[in-house]
Amino acid sequence: MADLTRYTAAETASAIATGEVSAVEVAQAHLDRINAVDEKVHAFLHVDTDGALEAARAVDAKRAAGEELGPLAGVPLALKDVFTTKGIPTTAGSKMLEGWRPPYDATVTRRLKEAGVVILGKTNMDEFAMGSSTENSAYGPTGNPWDLSRIPGGSGGGSAAALAAFEAPLAIGTDTGGSIRQPGAVTGTVGVKPTYGSVSRYGLIAFSSSLDQGGPCARTVLDTALLHEAIAGWDPMDSTSINAPVPAVVAAARHADVKGMRVGVVKEFGGEGYQAGVMQRFNESVELLRSLGAEIVEISCPSFTYALPAYYLIAPSECSSNLARFDAMRYGLRVGDNGERSAEEVTALTREAGFGPEVKRRIMLGTYALSSGYYDAYYGSAQKVRTLISRDFDRAFGDVDVLISPTTPTTAFPIGERADDPMAMYLADLCTIPSNLAGNAAMSVPCGLAPEDNLPVGLQIIAPALADDRLYRVGAAVEAALNDKWGHPLLEEAPAL
Ligand code: GLN
Repeated sequence: MADLTRYTAAETASAIATGEVSAVEVAQAHLDRINAVDEKVHAFLHVDTDGALEAARAVDAKRAAGEELGPLAGVPLALKDVFTTKGIPTTAGSKMLEGWRPPYDATVTRRLKEAGVVILGKTNMDEFAMGSSTENSAYGPTGNPWDLSRIPGGSGGGSAAALAAFEAPLAIGTDTGGSIRQPGAVTGTVGVKPTYGSVSRYGLIAFSSSLDQGGPCARTVLDTALLHEAIAGWDPMDSTSINAPVPAVVAAARHADVKGMRVGVVKEFGGEGYQAGVMQRFNESVELLRSLGAEIVEISCPSFTYALPAYYLIAPSECSSNLARFDAMRYGLRVGDNGERSAEEVTALTREAGFGPEVKRRIMLGTYALSSGYYDAYYGSAQKVRTLISRDFDRAFGDVDVLISPTTPTTAFPIGERADDPMAMYLADLCTIPSNLAGNAAMSVPCGLAPEDNLPVGLQIIAPALADDRLYRVGAAVEAALNDKWGHPLLEEAPAL
């Protein structure tokens, strides 16, 4: 095999299983790649060289002993720095947790280890997953491998950039309002927000507990499916975990056939405010699905117009409560403890120094929205909108199998362009937020480059809760048809770093 960083996870796993390459060689090739390019990309906050090589050696030893290997054994992965990793720094992109080494593994981390996946390190992210560009990281921004002066999306920009820069074939993200799908869209990679409750939140540092969902990211739909099956499933350690069988997403990714499927185009997403090249590639994808035998219907979901304001009340409200635990007593940072100040003073000084501006903005917004006298007007109204959004989805899925839209209104914007304009930043998640509020499953799959800037465009596919398999069926069909059309996968077009 030539450059080991260019293969898919499926190809890599099978080459390791047959003995064509060793897991250690694969891990070393990716560590070398990280050494060569990550100074420019800054996808990683922490690279665990020793841990990765040790995990790879364990896979090779298992194979040598004739033991059966799982479908992803020996495949390297980049883990968003919001999942706890025992003994390995976990910061959630915040100064508040600088130097913290968790005493336990998140369930996702544990499952990856049990699957023989080789965790290369922890990826950069917006502080506490609040943002759409990774510029809110306390450790500096990540560059988009397509154009290092542009954002890789957020909050999981590090994970998406690691994939697009061939630093890892697999990555894990979390999606509260779009943080897996939007980075996927702007880096030309695949990202899935599974049905809420199907991937455990145990050990996932909480932003907005009723919306947060971990999920798989990769360069191909099949690889994403393999990772999905490795991390999903009931977990007694998470009270919102769903005790239901994981949909057969790998089989669906291998069954790339949309003949007879009913596909709804969301009327509210598109038109004014959307970049022309994004709409062009989206409209072509609609025609492509039609030519593959899908039945296309236009669907109106009027309440989606209110999803963004509802989200920006609900998510900050939950964050104001979740982030109260960072009190300078229990974790990480402690500022101003000179033996004379009161605990309250130390807490205040620590939160002042430890949180960045966006996190502070959200804590204040959420605290206000939850305060007595305003609770019904703000939080209560937002929860009612949330119900209306779920009803719009229910109605739509009574008529169609999946819904589609552009993943984002624009391609990757320049670093700095929206940094001082929170509203412009929030608009990046216009199309992704409804699925978080309703808890259903959604994917972003690359659908070409926008002609005006040659940057990747994402197609969003949305399925009902617990029908995640439909995402993979449709996503794999689009991926295969586009590869046929252009004769190569989209990422082959990415400029060399
Ligand atoms: N960009 C959205 C926000 O800032 C979504 C973030 C996420 O999904 N974690 O809240």
